[in-house]
Formats: sequence, C-alpha cells, structure tokens
Amino acid sequence: MPEPRFLVRLCLLVCLATPLIFTGCGSRGDSAVPAWAKRSLASGPTVRVRLLRKSYFSRVYLEWEQDGITLSDDQGHPIPLPDGTRRVYLKMRKQKIALAFRRGKAAFRKAKRYSEVWLKVPDREVGVISVKIPERRVYRDYEAQSLRLSIKYGRMALINYLPLEMYIARVIPEEMDAEHFTLEALKAQAVVARTWSLKNMGRHKRFGYDFCDSPHCQVYKGRKQVSRRAEKAAKMTLGEVLTYQGRLAEAFYHSTCGGNTVFVEEVWGGRRIAHLARVEDRFKLGNRAYCAPSPYARWQLLTSLRRVERALKKKSVLPKKAVLKSVKVDFINRSGRVKRIRLVTNQGERLVESGDFRKILNREFGKRRLLSHFYEIQVDGQQFRVLGRGLGHGVGLCQWGARGMAQHGFSYVEILQHYFKGTQLGMDDGDHSTTRDSASTTQNSQAGKK
Ligand SMILES: [Zn+2]
Ligand SMILES: [Zn+2]
Repeated sequence: MPEPRFLVRLCLLVCLATPLIFTGCGSRGDSAVPAWAKRSLASGPTVRVRLLRKSYFSRVYLEWEQDGITLSDDQGHPIPLPDGTRRVYLKMRKQKIALAFRRGKAAFRKAKRYSEVWLKVPDREVGVISVKIPERRVYRDYEAQSLRLSIKYGRMALINYLPLEMYIARVIPEEMDAEHFTLEALKAQAVVARTWSLKNMGRHKRFGYDFCDSPHCQVYKGRKQVSRRAEKAAKMTLGEVLTYQGRLAEAFYHSTCGGNTVFVEEVWGGRRIAHLARVEDRFKLGNRAYCAPSPYARWQLLTSLRRVERALKKKSVLPKKAVLKSVKVDFINRSGRVKRIRLVTNQGERLVESGDFRKILNREFGKRRLLSHFYEIQVDGQQFRVLGRGLGHGVGLCQWGARGMAQHGFSYVEILQHYFKGTQLGMDDGDHSTTRDSASTTQNSQAGKK
C-alpha cells in the first residue's frame, strides 16, 4: 500500500491546483466535465423494492407531474385516465383495490376495483411519483420506472421498480453519513452496496419483489434523502462490483468494528468465507484503529449487580432465590468477541450465551446499551460495568474504518481490499445466477451515519 501521507499531500496539491486549471481555461467547455458526471443513474438492472412492508395501510394517493404516465391492471389492460389527471386515490376494499380520480366517499362509491394497479412511466424511463399515505404520515417521492400496487395477505403492497444505480445512490445516504464521510469511503460503500444488491437480488422473490426497504435488506426511502455526494460516489463507481475468484463477493458491512473485524462463521455460523475474515482495523499494530473517531468506538454500561440479577430472573435465567455474586466472561472467540458468560451465584455457576445475555440487558436497560459483543465485564462489589467497543456485527467493511482510511489517503479500492482480503474490483457482467438467500446483513449499519 502506498505511504498515506504522500497521498494526502498529492490530493491537496491536486485540489489546490484544480480551480486554477479550470479558471485558466477561460470558458468551461465539454472537456471540463469529468467522465463520471456524464454517466446516468438510470442504468443497471431493474430492482423491485417493496415499500413500507411492515406498515399496515388501507389507502394510498399517487401523484406525478410528467406527461405520458399510464395506468394498467394485472392483465396489462389500460385503465383510462381522464384528461389531465395526475393524481389517483386508491383504497383497499374487499381484498381489491378501488381506484378513484377524486377524493371522498362519493367518488369511491362508484370506483372500479382491481386486483392490481400498475403505474408506468413510458419507455422504461424514470419518473418521480409522490406516494402519500396519510394513515402512516408518509409523504415521499420515489424514482420509478413503474409502481405496482396489489394486496398481499390482507395488506396493501406497494412495489417500486427502479434502476439499480438509482437505488444505490439513494441507499448510500441512509447507510452512511454522505455529507460528512470522505468521498473515497462513500465510493467503497457504493461498491459494497451494489455488490450486496446483485448477490442478493430476489431475496424476497417468493413474494414478488427483490428487497424490502428496511434494515433487513438496505434502508431505502426514495428521494427523502437526496445527496449529491452519494450520487457522485455511485456515478464514479458505476457498475463496479467486488469479486472473489471471478464471482460476486459476499459484501457485508457494519458501522464500527471497534478495532478488528470478525470471521463471518463466528457470527452467523455456516461455512468459512475467505474474504470475510478477521482484519485489523489499523495501519500497523499499536496504532489507533481507523474507526476510533466513531461515536460508537467505545461505550459502557454502568449499573448495579442487583439490577442485572433482576433482569436475569425476569427471563428465568436465574432461580428466584439465587443471589448473583459476580459475572464473568467465560469464552472469547478468535475475533475477540464474547461468546459465553458465566454467572456466579450463591447456588453455583451458570453459563449463558452472549446473544441471550445481550438481549436481556438491552431489554432491561434500553434498546441500545450493549452495542456489540466486543466488551469486557468488571464487577467491583455491587458495581457492574460493561466496557465495550464498536457497533454492529463486525463482518466485512467497517464504515467508520473506511472513513478513517480515506482520511489517511487510501483510495476506495485499497479500502475494499483491506476489509475484503483477496477480492478484486470488477464490472457487473449481468450474470447474477449465483444469488442466494443469506442472513440479515446490514443490521445496525444505518447507525454508521451518526
Ligand atoms: Zn428484506
Ligand atoms: Zn473499525
């Protein structure tokens, strides 16, 4: 890897020189526009994202501004739109969708019902459609080639069809702080999000779509968060993916590793994946971790042994009459994460899995108290203290570490090769036959933007 300080200097030089070059040209001709700026986000395969999967709603209003948008039913038959109409009201009625062109009960009384309603932008272009769901206070604009509304299991299901690159540009700011993270980190995030998306395309295909819009897949809220920097990162890396031995890599990411990432099999079990192994998150041993500036780099929980005892008894981990004397870490895995806890009581000892222990403490002390399994426990008399590091599962790219590396002058390619050993950057060739279902991936990752 190149000496980072040299790269920083080089960057500074280029940054300082750039305005001079531009102003020196006199008029800014076409040659002044960088190649990436000419690329369009309306490219890549179409992805189908189900919007608000977990929310129940029974009416949706759709609105648009551009010409040529058409409506059709599940058979593809056009639904005629009165002249100049740019808004439709849709309501669930008897397991079908009633469609009206005006608001109010009277309009719905005469409304026709459909099992599916499609809203299509002509010629596979991308249009902007406003989705209004007053019941859920959702008022959002979505880029779409089409929008499909149907009924699934007694709920209205809204599916957004859009080009992959557009989806990536909108996902980045949800998963990383696009305004404050260094561009190279955003580019690394773009490649990882794209690789993950292609690898997991069809994750919800049993239900007729690819991804949900929640952290289960990747957080997506349409144009609610438009970031020019995220768009730039997507365009600069357009079509680029991470590969391992010629196939799409498993590209997971998390907020803050806290010092080193983990072996994937130690988190989710299953087989070893060579490029998802433990990586030291620092330039050389003894240095501060790249993710040290993260607000989640260090955290602690301070309470009394009594309260921990009470929490454990609530979940019947300890018998009612037991007195908790101490809590110890019983087993730490090769990634440095706590696997098992030993509870020392007046009635002997008891082992508890760290996953269960974390759930119990988070339920008792607030949702986000134990942010990871990277911690030590100190018991001093009645005082109980957990000193922890990092946020998230620790697999793959450490987002705050990527930010740190970028600030040290590393490029996005170097960042990716640091966290995913043995991988290479390639272009998406459109062959996604290797897709498979995998465990929840981006858990806690949206917290990386804090
Ligand atoms: Zn999902
Ligand atoms: Zn890290």
